[in-house]
Amino acid sequence: MLSHDAAEPAGQTHSDPNADGLAGVLAAHDTVRIVAARTTHLVATASQLHDCSPTVAAAFGRLLTGAALMGASLRGPERVTLQISCDGPVRGLVADAAAGGAIRGYPLAPRAERPLTTCGKFDVGGIVGRGFLHVTRTFAIGLPYTSATPLVSGEIGEDLAYFCAQSDQIPSVVAVGVLANPSGILAAGGFIAQLLPGAREEDMHVLERTVRHMPHPSSLIRQGLRPEQIALAVGAGLAPRITHRAHLRFACTCSRDRVTRMLIGLGHDDLRELGERSQPTEVVCNVCRRRYTFTPAEIRALHVAADSADGTRDTLTSG
Ligand SMILES: [Zn+2]
Repeated sequence: MLSHDAAEPAGQTHSDPNADGLAGVLAAHDTVRIVAARTTHLVATASQLHDCSPTVAAAFGRLLTGAALMGASLRGPERVTLQISCDGPVRGLVADAAAGGAIRGYPLAPRAERPLTTCGKFDVGGIVGRGFLHVTRTFAIGLPYTSATPLVSGEIGEDLAYFCAQSDQIPSVVAVGVLANPSGILAAGGFIAQLLPGAREEDMHVLERTVRHMPHPSSLIRQGLRPEQIALAVGAGLAPRITHRAHLRFACTCSRDRVTRMLIGLGHDDLRELGERSQPTEVVCNVCRRRYTFTPAEIRALHVAADSADGTRDTLTSG
């Protein structure tokens, strides 16, 4: 259960042409499942959108990477949402993965900060503190299902591994990390390795030994390794084979249409008040910080629409 980040001295920049993505691997006669991800660009995008402090960017980047890893096999309308509720300065973090590699999320207190640890690392455990990790899975049919485990250390990787072992009953190793300097995110990524039913004890020992001696994934990504190379390296000695590859990107599901429906759902009194103002109404998405502006005339038109949609307001706002 590795989980570390490092702060690099200023002035060192590194551009990498590779896009974000993930690779899935099965090993040890399909009894070990490994997913590795490179999330550098999406973590950088998310951190910039939310104007995160360096330590929040590290914590948020780890959780976004965790969502990408846990959402690797999603299909159709399925989603997995990781939510940390905590008593540390960041107060809470949300990261969500949808099929097709769309990752999004937000921190509750993006500007919270903690000094670097004595070894020069981001104090992710300190900025998160104590609390719970909630994992919500949304399926193609039926209601979403949420389960939660207490945070082990607030370092995210350990907390995700603990959740998988306790709640999903799947022994797992999770390593997630963000490498950054004062000018921004240099590399981000991670891997998850899980023992499936029928896994042999000797294979587990091989995996443990490999992981213990591996450099941290954010360092490997900084060196230019691709997700499939990292996943194969984790499964070394266990006859690993690549099962899938996918792109990853930061993507929000908000739209002007959704915001319009939300405004209609406010009801008569609020819409009348907004329509009577001389200033436009601005709605900011809390996930991607995109701004949607509505003129007073547009708001008044929505007010008329709200009148005719009166009986169906609950339906309109539930999406
Ligand atoms: Zn959005």
